[in-house]
Amino acid sequence: MKNVIQQKNAIAVIIFILLTYGCANGHVSYPDPDIRIESMENTVRYLTEINPSRSYDHLDSMTRSANYISQKFEEYGLKPKEQEFVVLGKTYVNILASVGPLERSRLIVGAHYDVCDNQPGADDNASAIAGLLEIARFVKKHESELPYRVDFVAYALEEPPFFGTMHMGSYVHAEFLHKNNVNVKGMICLEMIGFFTDKDDSQSYPSAILRLFYPSKGNFIGVVSNFGRSSFAAQIAKHMGATSVGVRTLKAPSFVTGVDFSDHRNYWKFGYDAVMITDTAFYRNLNYHQETDIMNTLDFVKMQEVIKGICWSILNMI
Ligand SMILES: [Zn+2]
Repeated sequence: MKNVIQQKNAIAVIIFILLTYGCANGHVSYPDPDIRIESMENTVRYLTEINPSRSYDHLDSMTRSANYISQKFEEYGLKPKEQEFVVLGKTYVNILASVGPLERSRLIVGAHYDVCDNQPGADDNASAIAGLLEIARFVKKHESELPYRVDFVAYALEEPPFFGTMHMGSYVHAEFLHKNNVNVKGMICLEMIGFFTDKDDSQSYPSAILRLFYPSKGNFIGVVSNFGRSSFAAQIAKHMGATSVGVRTLKAPSFVTGVDFSDHRNYWKFGYDAVMITDTAFYRNLNYHQETDIMNTLDFVKMQEVIKGICWSILNMI
């Protein structure tokens, strides 16, 4: 990701469709997913303490991270596999684990585990890996209720210098699905889900005009989508809106700065519906890609609500 504001954002905002979901609709029953804050803290602690950092040029640290994720999937009853790919002579792996009927269409839930440079990467993106593992634990327990298959994917190489290239782990995965004509229901990208603040004017936007429609306090979670054909994003926003965390949706073309700044971009590229669940990254979190992106800046109670909302979305997806 890079932090550059494009002039055309100002024009693009006029076609934004803004929807706000602040509370439950009262017609759907949601089970308590029992999302464990302690488990999420353990994951964030483990990943952020890996030294040197889990960046592309520290292959041992990438492997340690991947092994941790595999072990957790196994602990929760899933059978993880590695999807290997070679970049500049080095072998990297995505970690994949499936739940639900194998022959059905698939929902992809993914998060990247690498970091940019030599940073701890608590929010970016240990927070999302911690959430991914808790979602997998919950979904496995509800496997018999799933009308479709869920593929969990932990990606390598989301960060620079490979961001935006065919070397991203998510590009490799999305391309594999496309080449094999896999029936994909949609993709949920977890991208920085741990930073929230109630301070005034703590939230910025790609264009000043968005301030008219969106909150000035960075205390909500964003559901970002493009102009897909289905109600995929709307369903997710609705079920997430049944939690106590405020949910804001943004539907925008991918040239607006920030909307395609994670792994979902590669699913869009191959024509799949995909959404990014985000605390808005550098538009809110000033620790973004800094040494200060550390564990004690995260709000695990809000993260718990975000993950609860994703679990409910998966169970209730039509
Ligand atoms: Zn990043």
